[in-house]
Amino acid sequence: MSDLLAHLNPPQLAAVTLPAQHALILAGAGSGKTRVLTTRIAWLISTGQVGAQGVLAVTFTNKAAKEMQARLAALLPINTRGMWIGTFHGLCNRFLRAHHREAGLSAQFQILDSADQLAAIKRLLKNLNIDDEKYPPRELMHFINAHKEQGIRAAQAEAYDAYTSRRVELYAEYEGQCQREGVVDFAELLLRSYELLQRNEPLRQHYQARFRHILVDEFQDTNRLQYAWLKLLAGRGSGKPDTPGGGACLFAVGDDDQSIYAFRGAEIGNMHDLQREFELPEVIRLEQNYRSHGNILDAANALIKQNRGRLGKNLWTEAGAGEPIRVFEGYSDIAEARFIVEEIGELVRNGVSRQQIALLYRSNAQSRVLEHQLFTEGLPYRVHGGLRFFDRQEIKHALAYLRLLANPDDDTAFARVVNFPTRGIGGRSIEALQEAARQTNSSLYNAAASLAGKPGSAVARFIALIESLRAETKDLPLPEVIDRLIERSGLRQHYLAEKEGQDRLENLDELINAAAGFVHDDGGPAVDGEEAVPDGGPLASFLAHASLEAGEHQAGEGQDAIQLMTVHAAKGLEFDIVFITGLEQGLFPHENAAQEREGLEEERRLMYVAVTRARKRLYLTHAQTRMLHGQTRYCLPSSFLEELPVELLRRINRAVASAPAAAPRPAAGAGWPKPAATNGLRIGQNVRHTRFGLGVIVSTEGAGPEARVQVNFGSGGMKWLALEYAKLTPA
Ligand code: ATP
Ligand code: MG
Repeated sequence: MSDLLAHLNPPQLAAVTLPAQHALILAGAGSGKTRVLTTRIAWLISTGQVGAQGVLAVTFTNKAAKEMQARLAALLPINTRGMWIGTFHGLCNRFLRAHHREAGLSAQFQILDSADQLAAIKRLLKNLNIDDEKYPPRELMHFINAHKEQGIRAAQAEAYDAYTSRRVELYAEYEGQCQREGVVDFAELLLRSYELLQRNEPLRQHYQARFRHILVDEFQDTNRLQYAWLKLLAGRGSGKPDTPGGGACLFAVGDDDQSIYAFRGAEIGNMHDLQREFELPEVIRLEQNYRSHGNILDAANALIKQNRGRLGKNLWTEAGAGEPIRVFEGYSDIAEARFIVEEIGELVRNGVSRQQIALLYRSNAQSRVLEHQLFTEGLPYRVHGGLRFFDRQEIKHALAYLRLLANPDDDTAFARVVNFPTRGIGGRSIEALQEAARQTNSSLYNAAASLAGKPGSAVARFIALIESLRAETKDLPLPEVIDRLIERSGLRQHYLAEKEGQDRLENLDELINAAAGFVHDDGGPAVDGEEAVPDGGPLASFLAHASLEAGEHQAGEGQDAIQLMTVHAAKGLEFDIVFITGLEQGLFPHENAAQEREGLEEERRLMYVAVTRARKRLYLTHAQTRMLHGQTRYCLPSSFLEELPVELLRRINRAVASAPAAAPRPAAGAGWPKPAATNGLRIGQNVRHTRFGLGVIVSTEGAGPEARVQVNFGSGGMKWLALEYAKLTPA
């Protein structure tokens, strides 16, 4: 017990050992909020103030939830499996599985991730013959999700103009479609749970009596609905918390400077509401940072100072200043990635463990170049979030078959694989099916089954395939079910025949491995006194896991690998060495946000999150040109770089000319061959390009596969071209 509290400073200790009351801890990055939260759970349980089943803890990622469980298991002599520790989505999923009937769902309900949701909306618009230029599916999706996150159903949504009222109708249609198909999207998981708790009094009372302590990490990023759900569970009564009728103690930790989900409806106002509604006597602050060296912390403080309306915090550290922050500019995204990979090679040779190195980027699309370089150098890496394992095409196909086995009414799954691999079911047959399904108000699968046409038709064969698969696999363990369906559906054959199908086959094998390693946690009887929660069985629970997990079961887990992720996904994590890449105007800060002060401030908070992930060494890198979405962009350095005190920075000029693209470049830096070596082309030479026409070379750099020339194409503009690809001919 004393061990438990030994490694805490006085304000942390005070927070951990608070009596049964509500509390908000507002503190900067790396000040120990998550540690305090975890230790408090351990303290409450070990001192007998609450049983493991009386605790509900909300974390930001599944990874954080697992870490918390592991830490608790190490601190306490209890089995922590089955404890209610998880993300909002994960916990709501568990709640709805346990009470699916009351929630109006089948035991097998499936979860739509955002890609599935978009596909479902597109299908809806098509079915209703709606012009998707007038009602862009993505916008409609945001419209629907924003309403759900405010707790507003289509029936209650307000519309003051014809366009919005049409969108509300479409929202209602979408609700109907999901219900028919037995699927729920992410926002629905929460809204359903909330509504169920609200309308079902016995259930609400049961959970309110059960949870004595509710603890929430990253509270600044909760949205209105999540906050409302927490309030409902906490069951604020008139008495003191944790007394009969008094409801649970709500213990929230957060950092307003790390609020990075305003675009998704997170409300910093929740912090104020919490203080007011739960009558918090005081807000507890922690100011000592235990994570980062001084220079890194100074940089973070200087940056966030530019934001207005902060609640105000001052972070300090006892760690020394440490190393300067390294800044590198590459002439292209490829050069940037090469630099990073060279540095990593050096670090690893010097004994740094790979999983202590993180590459962060603002947008998922940036990871490809980094991945390519890492791959080329044979450095193992893992991508978290974003390009998730479960998002890959082949995995989604296999999962769609699995979903159809679990729930034939899942139209999204049906539409995905009815003709994949191709089996001669054309667009027209599918339209006919959709029409029939609409008329009979049934699922595509049912329509297909009753309308399969002449026996032996392609549709009839598909239905027969699914039916026989279901019968065959009924009693098989999950990995074998998946293996069988990959074989029988023709997926394996399809990818075997595909030129680049090897990777995909490996991923499919990895899916079988994931299923084999998947622990079907049925909620009990792990915790003393915990009732077993019916949850739809291993298949449904594996599918839910696939929809909810952010790439945490991809290939190579457990291997010592370099960590790649977006800045959003890095929240709460820490690494010895961090590279923040792509620090360019328009990319980070993102162009969608840079125009308005609020948008820019949110981007700055994101940058603050990124900087404060680093313990010992921080690299900031950017490139002069970047290929994004198929176009080469010319980039200016991010304005955030200018906001950092220069005395903290050290520029690294390795092997790269750093002059702006349009000016003549200075003599090539060390390591670069002379410009004359650019494949025989020289400055002043006239050249012809198949697309841009005639031009004149104005500067050159690099050699061999690196060689690039800048060409003035007159009215076609000034372009940097890689000689290897550009196919320039002397003119
Ligand atoms: P973030 O805002 O980024 O989520 P946080 O406030 O949750 O950060 P933690 O992750 O809990 O911070 O702690 C940061 C690091 O400091 C962790 O490695 C943690 O173990 C360590 N730490 C926290 N408090 C102490 C302490 N009193 N003594 C030593 N190390 C500590
Ligand atoms: Mg934390």
